[in-house]
Amino acid sequence: MTHSPPLIIGAGPVGMAAASFLSRYDIVPRIVDKRAEPSKFSKALAVNPRTLELFEASGITDKLLALGRKIHGTTIHRNGRIVAEVDFEALEHRFPFMLALSQAATERVLREDLAERGIEIERQIELVDSPNLTEGNAELVHVETQANESVAAPWILASDGAHSLARKSVHVPFPGDTYDRAWVLDDIPLATDFAPDRAHIKLQDDGFLFMMPIHTGEEKPGEPTVWRVMGNYPEPLGQLSESNPVGESQWNSSFHIAHRLVESMNVGKVYFAGDAAHLHSPVGARGMNLGIEDAWVFAELAKRDELSLYHQQRWPIDNAIIQRIRTMTGFVKGESFIKRTLRNLLAPKLLHWKGVREAMLRTVSGLDHPVPLFQPAPEESPTEPQPRTRRRNRG
Ligand SMILES: Cc1cc2nc3c(=O)[nH]c(=O)nc-3n(C[C@H](O)[C@H](O)[C@H](O)COP(=O)(O)OP(=O)(O)OC[C@H]3O[C@@H](n4cnc5c(N)ncnc54)[C@H](O)[C@@H]3O)c2cc1C
Repeated sequence: MTHSPPLIIGAGPVGMAAASFLSRYDIVPRIVDKRAEPSKFSKALAVNPRTLELFEASGITDKLLALGRKIHGTTIHRNGRIVAEVDFEALEHRFPFMLALSQAATERVLREDLAERGIEIERQIELVDSPNLTEGNAELVHVETQANESVAAPWILASDGAHSLARKSVHVPFPGDTYDRAWVLDDIPLATDFAPDRAHIKLQDDGFLFMMPIHTGEEKPGEPTVWRVMGNYPEPLGQLSESNPVGESQWNSSFHIAHRLVESMNVGKVYFAGDAAHLHSPVGARGMNLGIEDAWVFAELAKRDELSLYHQQRWPIDNAIIQRIRTMTGFVKGESFIKRTLRNLLAPKLLHWKGVREAMLRTVSGLDHPVPLFQPAPEESPTEPQPRTRRRNRG
């Protein structure tokens, strides 16, 4: 058994964000990942205003802004008509938009940040079943050589994703539910009249379709825009009445939506963050963003030597958000006749109420609760307002 610095298991966006935040306080963790290469998948397609706030002090926000595209609002369509629109400008926030940026690009920025801070991601090192993980004793395997390594760490941040082995090793319950019906997504170049600076939700007779441009920061001039098309259909692309694919699908994935939260965010010396701690539907765009907020709070508490407060500070917030997103998802997906009829009748009317629009915007933007210990940058230095080109296109 060798003594290790604090250990982060998993170099997804959440583990990397935690390492970056911690390093600002001279806490230099060891960060390991079982994969040989970073993930190339677009997955989370937007960075929300809360995440942009949290990364601002470290300079990461400027790098993300340079790569992404501002999404100014959401348009809701039904039967070829726009039935409601919500605009992020109503937030009156220094970042009044969602930033469309593929998760692969966000992760690239985080990797570069860690490299600049002198933190190396140790790849092909896997946490394996560790009977004494709660005491900080982790069993690692070097994937290439199959060499075993036993380490004793002062604490372990488990950011090892949805199938977290750390979570299983400490036997912490992960209650919740999983939908039967698979959702399917395609990232595909489209010719469409839909405004590319907005997200679009189509309420259909038998489900829903979500569409938003994907950005990587590596687009070439003249290239058709790649859109995320996602819905609760086996073939969402078959529902594109107003848009035409102009190229091959770049990523197709089918997944089952779950809403789950660990019963405790902390067991002994192990702390959970990101998908290892919670899962929920992409409605609300919170998955990666909520995990990054876990990482921020974790780092602040580590700095203050107050990790004992982590569960108390994160669990109620994560729980409230997951419940809210479960409700929103149930409303949007419209999978029973009654719910669909209610949704189609009520959604346009409800969204004409300022309070309802603001609640939706605050949920999606991550600004639906204060983050304890967080002081936003003063409003005297807002980002420069950008000229907006907004078309109210119809589907
Ligand atoms: C198909 C799909 C679409 C999605 N769409 C969206 C979206 O539109 N919006 C949104 O916000 N979110 C979306 N998400 C969710 C989002 O991708 C996750 O919330 C986010 O990746 C969570 O980050 P994380 O760092 O917690 O976990 P992960 O990104 O899963 O990273 C975990 C890391 O841990 C490593 N690891 C795992 N086990 C071990 C081990 N035993 N030892 C060492 N390393 C290990 C893995 O290799 C991985 O690198 C989507 C996810 C999927 C799968």
